[in-house]
Amino acid sequence: FVIPDFQDFIKDIEEMYWTAKSITDGKVASYIPQLARANPDNWGVSVCTIDGQRFSIGDVNLPFTLQSCSKPLTYAMALETLGPEVVHQYIGTEPSGRNFNELVLDYNMKPHNPMINAGAILVCSLLKTLDKPDMTLAEKFDYVMSFFSRLAGNELLGFNNAVFLSEREAADRNYALGFYMREHKCYPEKTNFRECMDFYFQCCSMEANCDIMSIMAATLANGGICPITDEKTLRPDSVRNVLSLMHSCGMYDYSGQFAFKVGLPAKSGVSGAMLIVVPNVMGICTWSPPLDPLGNSCRGLQFCEELIKRFNFHKYDNI
Ligand code: GLN
Repeated sequence: FVIPDFQDFIKDIEEMYWTAKSITDGKVASYIPQLARANPDNWGVSVCTIDGQRFSIGDVNLPFTLQSCSKPLTYAMALETLGPEVVHQYIGTEPSGRNFNELVLDYNMKPHNPMINAGAILVCSLLKTLDKPDMTLAEKFDYVMSFFSRLAGNELLGFNNAVFLSEREAADRNYALGFYMREHKCYPEKTNFRECMDFYFQCCSMEANCDIMSIMAATLANGGICPITDEKTLRPDSVRNVLSLMHSCGMYDYSGQFAFKVGLPAKSGVSGAMLIVVPNVMGICTWSPPLDPLGNSCRGLQFCEELIKRFNFHKYDNI
């Protein structure tokens, strides 16, 4: 086993869970009513090792929408189906140093990276327009959803239609980003703008829970082989690219500080979810809706910092 004394490890995770539970900082997202109604007390942690040992504690079965946690997944899918050369003709690999939805492109007039809204919207246009271009949006939705599900050991994902409709209604900034990119001819030819935006909102509105997301994180930790099904879902070079950008760009405008303090690839979402990857060891998913001013889950961050205090998981701990 990659973690020989799993029972002992679990004790630490439990303690860290209860410590973080008492935190009352942060505010749940309020830009759409469905997220504003989230229960700030919800708190779950799931762990899945690369050899399939699992542990979860708290609200690990309640569904939440993926939101920005879908960004590394759509990016992974684009790398897998189109290859990194094609994807990075359109999208950069540099942290933006700005908010996730800031109206800004890089010096080449491309989105900075696939982990912020502009980049993720562009990834959606690549998936829709370049990979199996004849699929309808409905077919593409099923195709993407089943790809995500394979990353999660064939667990089924859900879809929250109320969130989807609200996202689309409250999307002035995302449309502004979308049009700004169209002005600068960022999209592949033949992109259907409306479909591309809908596809992005749909990816944000897919639902899963901590247990399911920890398997996805574990698949990334395991170089693309799902530890539950042993299915090869991603090539190692795709995983390397996804983890690199999660490491440098996954935590909004806190990414640099997170890379410094925690030193692990991670991705947060506005629903309060966080995917954390300990390469070659395990995947973790935490979920707690209250967010700090930069948009990261307060309990999730505290949990990660504590994890690094107790274990030598930081990328440069073993130097
Ligand atoms: N749906 C959100 C948006 O597009 C997702 C962003 C996030 O999770 N930070 O604004």
